[in-house]
Amino acid sequence: MAKPTNITWHETSISKENRREKNGHGSCALWFTGLSGSGKSTIANAVSHELFRQGISEYVLDGDNIRHGLNKDLGFSDYDRTENIRRIGEVAKLFVDSGKVVTTAFISPFRSDRDQVRALFEDSEFIEVFINCPIEECERRDPKQLYAKARRGEIKDFTGIDSPYEAPEQPEITINSDQVTVEEAVDQVFAYLREKNILK
Ligand code: ADP
Repeated sequence: MAKPTNITWHETSISKENRREKNGHGSCALWFTGLSGSGKSTIANAVSHELFRQGISEYVLDGDNIRHGLNKDLGFSDYDRTENIRRIGEVAKLFVDSGKVVTTAFISPFRSDRDQVRALFEDSEFIEVFINCPIEECERRDPKQLYAKARRGEIKDFTGIDSPYEAPEQPEITINSDQVTVEEAVDQVFAYLREKNILK
């Protein structure tokens, strides 16, 4: 019997839904936004640790792993800030497609940039987490001494000092990080994820 020569390979690509089913949980982007020193990185990492501990597939996109790699060609002009956020949004989308809960911790000061990222996702996948903290408190914490440098004029276009921060108008989650502990902030995020059935 002659060997078949024209076998057609029916490629069915693995879908996001397939990956979610395999993982046993949903996937989404938790997009942390807020002033420098408000606690984005601290809370995003604490959320990710707890997700990991509970066996949830997660990843953190933060300043170091992006600004030193993918976006090392970008600075802090308005154009570069917008491009920085656009690329992070696209990467976050890939992580959501891969079935993970991805947290991102970037100031992302411009509302239009965040809305552009939101538009990349399906409705329930993009969760804007506003880390709301008065600038006086952020400046008091000043974990990286950036406010001190900005006040001395050593950093230009610093968000909150000489560059604007546009607070979200309708964030999915608002964390008042001057009033709650990191643990309470993590609980708030988990309560939201459970309410929306992203986690069981
Ligand atoms: P951002 O990523 O927004 O620039 P960081 O997380 O790097 O901010 O720094 C926030 C600082 O504030 C850390 O030193 C953290 O320990 C401190 N901090 C104090 N209270 C809180 C809180 N309730 N939530 C988050 N961070 C807090």
